[in-house]
Amino acid sequence: VTERARIARYFAPLTAGEAGSFSLTDDAAILTPPAGQQLVITTDSVIENIHVLAHASAAQFARKLVRRNLSDLAAMGARPWRYSINLHTPRGLADDWFAEFAATLAEEQAHFNMVLIGGDSTSGDGAIHTTMTCFGLLEGTALRRNSAQAGDDLYVSGTLGDAALALPMLQHGQPVPEDFAARYHMPEPRLALGHALKTIATAALDISDGLLQDIAQLCRASAVGATLLRDDIPLSDEARSILAVDATAWDFILGGGDDYELAFTAPPEKRAEIAALAMQLNLPLTRIGIVTEGDEIQLLDEYGEQVDIGKIGWEYA
Ligand SMILES: [Mg+2]
Repeated sequence: VTERARIARYFAPLTAGEAGSFSLTDDAAILTPPAGQQLVITTDSVIENIHVLAHASAAQFARKLVRRNLSDLAAMGARPWRYSINLHTPRGLADDWFAEFAATLAEEQAHFNMVLIGGDSTSGDGAIHTTMTCFGLLEGTALRRNSAQAGDDLYVSGTLGDAALALPMLQHGQPVPEDFAARYHMPEPRLALGHALKTIATAALDISDGLLQDIAQLCRASAVGATLLRDDIPLSDEARSILAVDATAWDFILGGGDDYELAFTAPPEKRAEIAALAMQLNLPLTRIGIVTEGDEIQLLDEYGEQVDIGKIGWEYA
């Protein structure tokens, strides 16, 4: 199958009639954002054996690729709109792979309300590399990392550590509960949360590299510190049961990454509004600490003793 035939067969239908895509037959696409909205652009890759397991299915590539990108849009308070795809695949990869990849993209783009506008593909040696560039739309003021204030509460959405704890089990072919495996294979970008936080949060980011490392990034950008209470970190039942028999699970929860939850800061007077939002979204929004002056990140255990976080969140980076 020639590249042109593959594009026409599998990828052109994903443009869904978007005029500026020219059905992937021209040199570039043309986008005109709706009046009064800003374009928010992000790009992320999914590489075999790094972001997905070795021998991951085409569907697993497609889902993780879409959701990694959309998590960054969520963190800015933007919504999905258009995307492009770059693929590098081993020479001679079966046509079925492209069929499954495109069919999964079709499901994902329908679910998240966006369409394909362009891309590129190469084949050669090495592992499968997939890259997406996502063009989101923003109404109002973006969520940024750089405006947390000392005295703000620090929150996270959902539960942390599930994907990082599931990964070694998946890698070793151990049985993993379906919901738990899904936290690794198909994270849920917190788009509705990001949208709502634009008028509530002082700063936000998505947790992709591990809680402590990402909180450190937010604090650096805002020129503040933070004190986190380890016992208040929201955990799933699975994570709790692993932690009950293996305290090293904390390293995965605090530093493992792949959570794709949002961390955000807000002044204490927003607590009732945030509690109402959690109910409305049916998503836990948990206060795990406070923003402090200075530049120190402190983690306290259940006795109020400082936990040594010298290595956590950096060795898994
Ligand atoms: Mg991010």
